[in-house]
Amino acid sequence: MNPELYPLGLRIAGRPVVVVGGGPVAARRTRSLVRAGAHVRVVAPEVCEDLAALVAPLPDGAARPDGSGPAGTVAWEARSFRPGDVEGAWLVHTATGSPEVDAAVAAEAESLRVFCVSAGDAEAGTAWVPAVARVTVGGGGAGGAAGSSPAVVASDADATEITVAVSAGRDPRRAQRVRDAIDALLATGELPLRPVRPAAHGRGSVALVGGGPGDPGLVTARGRRLLAQAEVVVTDRLGPRALLDGLADDVVVIDVGKTPGFHPVPQEEINALLVEHALAGRRVVRLKGGDPYVFGRGGEELIACEEHGIPVEVVPGVTSAVSVPAAVGIPVTHRGWSRGFTVLTGHEDIGKVPAASDHTVVLLMGVSRLRDSAAALVASGRSPETPVAVVEDGYGPRQRSTVGTLATIADVATAAGVRAPAVTVIGDVVRVSPAWRAAGLD
Ligand code: SAH
Repeated sequence: MNPELYPLGLRIAGRPVVVVGGGPVAARRTRSLVRAGAHVRVVAPEVCEDLAALVAPLPDGAARPDGSGPAGTVAWEARSFRPGDVEGAWLVHTATGSPEVDAAVAAEAESLRVFCVSAGDAEAGTAWVPAVARVTVGGGGAGGAAGSSPAVVASDADATEITVAVSAGRDPRRAQRVRDAIDALLATGELPLRPVRPAAHGRGSVALVGGGPGDPGLVTARGRRLLAQAEVVVTDRLGPRALLDGLADDVVVIDVGKTPGFHPVPQEEINALLVEHALAGRRVVRLKGGDPYVFGRGGEELIACEEHGIPVEVVPGVTSAVSVPAAVGIPVTHRGWSRGFTVLTGHEDIGKVPAASDHTVVLLMGVSRLRDSAAALVASGRSPETPVAVVEDGYGPRQRSTVGTLATIADVATAAGVRAPAVTVIGDVVRVSPAWRAAGLD
């Protein structure tokens, strides 16, 4: 058995490194070295396009296309390797495509006691490059490989990077596959990314995370990651409550859930809670059902936080307006049947809506006002025969679709004992659903 590998994280910034070779492998290595801040000297008679782009001088302060910025530097010596080239380097990569040249580089590195990575013959080298997954955690805002949204106003002074390096001996593709799996876990927040050390200057933040209609699989990867980093989670009745079970014991979970007709925590108090915890330096996630900006009062929470200078990130969610109909086989648009849709609250008088039969109307909330809403739609010109589906508890254990027409739906829903939460879909698209066909209403 081979002796085990001794992993290290090299702080290579500002140090000279030599890369011998000008092909795509040399380019990849050079790119990551530059990102780490190294001063790279490339020795090769010719360089490929990728490498040439790295060598090309940048205008002052310009960021490289890969976002690496002007951190490290690259100089190219357009010639073959010569004895003495390794002199003065802290690390050498050789990727020339020629076993003899790679061997000569490795031999010189060995004699000078400089670690050498040999792309051609891994055994000949004294160091191996692992497959790497990274994620940026913390800071006031988004973090993560996906970059930051324009809504992020935080500095990332207290952002830290988590680096996972995977080595699988002489099977680099196996290492890459393990790395890819870890990458996915990091991206979706399934790993415990929450900093254990408190942020240096105690700056808090708020993320308004759209949790989708309730199924834990329907929250975005960014939402999951932010949840994994949260110290305080302010949650609703709707949304993916199952995700709360996965939180660490020391995460403070505050349930401000509303039930119809009963509002335990008024919106101003929710706003105040978010502000209070963020000002105390905590990372707060406001986990909301559906999308934060679709009848979610996310805009009010955003404004409240911004008034206190708190960095806010808004993570869109899968809205129930579209997904709950989908759960029971209703597409809100359908070629030939519906050219668009309007989402309204059924909580109040629905007012004027497009009367054309090729336009779908989706009502959120207001199950108890269904009779008034249906009558209002007929009064504004919709046929009383227009199909309607009331979809309760989409993606939940009580999911059920009750169908009728604008003329009958109120009575049908009462008889069926329809309860909130429910989404009401009005329009021909309801005909697509299995429930409509099963009811034999055509
Ligand atoms: N921001 C949310 C909507 C909040 S208003 C979103 O984008 O989905 C709350 C209303 O959403 C409920 O009254 C109901 O009409 C609807 N709703 C949310 N989740 C639902 C679910 N799983 N099943 C049925 N209706 C749901």
